[in-house]
Amino acid sequence: MDTRVRPDTSIPFYQPAGNEVTLFEHAWANRLPLLVKGPTGVGKTRFVAHMAARLGLPLFTVACHDDLTAADLVGRHLIGDGETIWCDGPLTRAVRQGGICYLDEVVEARKDTTVVIHPLADDRRILPIDRTGETLEAPPGFMLVMSYNPGYQNFLKGLKPSTRQRFVSITFDFPPADREAAILQSEAACPRMLATQLVSIGRNLRALKDVDLEEAVSTRLLVYAARLIVAGLDPVDACRAAVVEGLSDDPEVTTALMEVVSATFGR
Ligand code: ADP
Repeated sequence: MDTRVRPDTSIPFYQPAGNEVTLFEHAWANRLPLLVKGPTGVGKTRFVAHMAARLGLPLFTVACHDDLTAADLVGRHLIGDGETIWCDGPLTRAVRQGGICYLDEVVEARKDTTVVIHPLADDRRILPIDRTGETLEAPPGFMLVMSYNPGYQNFLKGLKPSTRQRFVSITFDFPPADREAAILQSEAACPRMLATQLVSIGRNLRALKDVDLEEAVSTRLLVYAARLIVAGLDPVDACRAAVVEGLSDDPEVTTALMEVVSATFGR
């Protein structure tokens, strides 16, 4: 066991679903990059934050978007006081410090980012910085982690095989009922009874077959509802605002979803 793995009260709460904690530790110890797949709001980001804290590693998180370029990751020259100064981007900082670089929703990023991701994600573990002429070798602590949501990508935005085949992959899904209830109790300090009701709403909404939703209700939205209810909001109103309105703009759909909510709270 690595000596950096230690109990620490500052570790963000994470409710595991399976062997992902062990898998992450082995991937890190063996200097392998990790791809975390799954729908939004199922705990991918929380998992990475938990693991970084658990391993005592600095974490550099990048929320990828369609304008994100390799230079945003690696760094750029900035002009100030008549001087040009090189400024490391988050990927370079993670490499220099031997930490975790987490690229959230990586398929959103521009394609030129693969130029810097690929050499760091295979045996070479190097980061060539063209602008400064440096080539950094990643220290043992460095780990590249990326997330992506397979259900939400269109054909053009799918991950290329040459990228995904450089990563150890793990799929996240909605947690089983007892684990999701434990997450709500911990994240919203809500009573068990309320957690069970909200989990049941989540499961019933996810099971609706004839309602057209872009994505199923996430654990994140159930946590929001729990927090609003714990703060004193009426449960039906809280679920409408935190869960139902976030899932659809179509009045027919939201009415159908609200029926599930109302039935759960006996309205
Ligand atoms: P993702 O990165 O998959 O979109 P997040 O990690 O941001 O999702 O999770 C959203 C929220 O849901 C978290 O802030 C946390 O409150 C809660 N959550 C979801 N899954 C878990 C889990 N397994 N353990 C603890 N909290 C979780």
